[in-house]
Amino acid sequence: MSIFNKYQHSSFKHKIGGLFILLLSFLLVAIVYSITRIQAIEEEMKEVAYLDIPLNQIMRQVEFIELEQHLQFEQFQLDVAQQAPLKPHQQLAFQKQKLKQLLDRAVKLIADSISQNALQLDIQQRQQVSVALADYYQKSALYEDKLAAVLARDEESPTDREQIEQMASELEHSETAILNLLSSITTDDAYYTERHQQEFLFVNSALGLVAVILGLGLTSYIIQIFVKRIQRIQGEIKTLNNSLENGHPLPEVALSTLDSNDELAGLEHEIQQVMLRLSDEINQRERVEKQLMILATQDKLTGAYNRHKWDEEIEQQIQLAKRGYQFSLIMIDVDHFKQVNDKYGHQIGDCLLKVLVELLTKRIRKSDMLFRLGGEEFAILLPMLDITAAEVLAQELKTRVEQFRQHDLPEFTISLGVSSFREFDSQESLYNRADGALYEAKTLGRNQVVVK
Ligand code: GH3
Ligand code: MG
Ligand code: MG
Repeated sequence: MSIFNKYQHSSFKHKIGGLFILLLSFLLVAIVYSITRIQAIEEEMKEVAYLDIPLNQIMRQVEFIELEQHLQFEQFQLDVAQQAPLKPHQQLAFQKQKLKQLLDRAVKLIADSISQNALQLDIQQRQQVSVALADYYQKSALYEDKLAAVLARDEESPTDREQIEQMASELEHSETAILNLLSSITTDDAYYTERHQQEFLFVNSALGLVAVILGLGLTSYIIQIFVKRIQRIQGEIKTLNNSLENGHPLPEVALSTLDSNDELAGLEHEIQQVMLRLSDEINQRERVEKQLMILATQDKLTGAYNRHKWDEEIEQQIQLAKRGYQFSLIMIDVDHFKQVNDKYGHQIGDCLLKVLVELLTKRIRKSDMLFRLGGEEFAILLPMLDITAAEVLAQELKTRVEQFRQHDLPEFTISLGVSSFREFDSQESLYNRADGALYEAKTLGRNQVVVK
């Protein structure tokens, strides 16, 4: 049995509990995921802050230094007079040296911040910054050499000014490149953090949606099982009701295996048991009714119809005959039956009566009816049979009894009186005529048929 099947048969309490645990587990996973993601994003935001805040401070200081450069430049104009011993090209180199010192200070500030981990960079970012710094240092060394050379020389070379201006601008570019690099690193980090935040929002919304769908799905699943089971039970109760109302036999009830965990299955099982019990009781009642019917209409000793049934049937045949359906009647009496009893005993007498009924029943049709009217006196009702056919049958019955032999029973004979319905006949007149014929058969010497 699969887990699902097992689950289908488990208790409703278990079912709902299981589904709740499933839902809660899902929510727990979603919450754990959210917490770890939030932590990671917080970490990233911190990194951006670590990078961004010190960088801003550095930038502010660099701005100050750049401001200082300007002030310094103004100062130079004033100082020119005091530096009279210096020639103009030496004055330029001197000024540039002073300005370069300020640039160096700005770059040193950045390099120090990185080496002291004030700026937290990953390996790749660190490498990029190192390359940019190395470029600056290289240009700086060349520039310094050039300025020193110009300062040391009394004569100005024609390309000096141009070269100094170019190198100064390259150095400044190199410094700007470092600043731009750092600024782009923080922008990238901020961008990734924002993207992670968006992803997190999206995944979290999706998880929430899945949780809602899961919750709705599980709830509707439980309701569906519940409704199906209730409908089946309702169906069984309806069948039971119909059977009881219309008196139909109850359908075969296959008792389902009882699952002690499933309350609804338990209920269904109980209903099935009630149906089984009812079905048994109905069958029993039908059997009893049949037996009662037999007792009410049949003679206990021989199984022939009794006097009560005779009264009903003769009346019905007379009603039918009045509408044109002919019928005949044969009255039968065992000859010298008293002697049989006296000679062989009452039990043999009883046996003889049973054998006689068997003999007669074998010969007559299913639609004919044999009655024991009392003692050893019988009557046969023959619907749709006229007097001639009835006489033929009576003769045959007489002969059969006469010729009957059984080692434990004495031979015996019967006398028969035959009559048919005539217009204006009543139950009494017909019976009297047939009984008269029987009486005549007795007086004529027995073992014979008289028709009247
Ligand atoms: P007959 O030829 O004139 O009919 O003579 P009979 O002896 O048959 O006539 P009778 O009516 O005088 O005797 C009927 C006897 O049947 C009397 C009674 O003891 C016996 N008898 C009646 N009912 C039963 C029964 O159920 N079992 C047995 N063994 N005998 C019965
Ligand atoms: Mg008799
Ligand atoms: Mg008799």
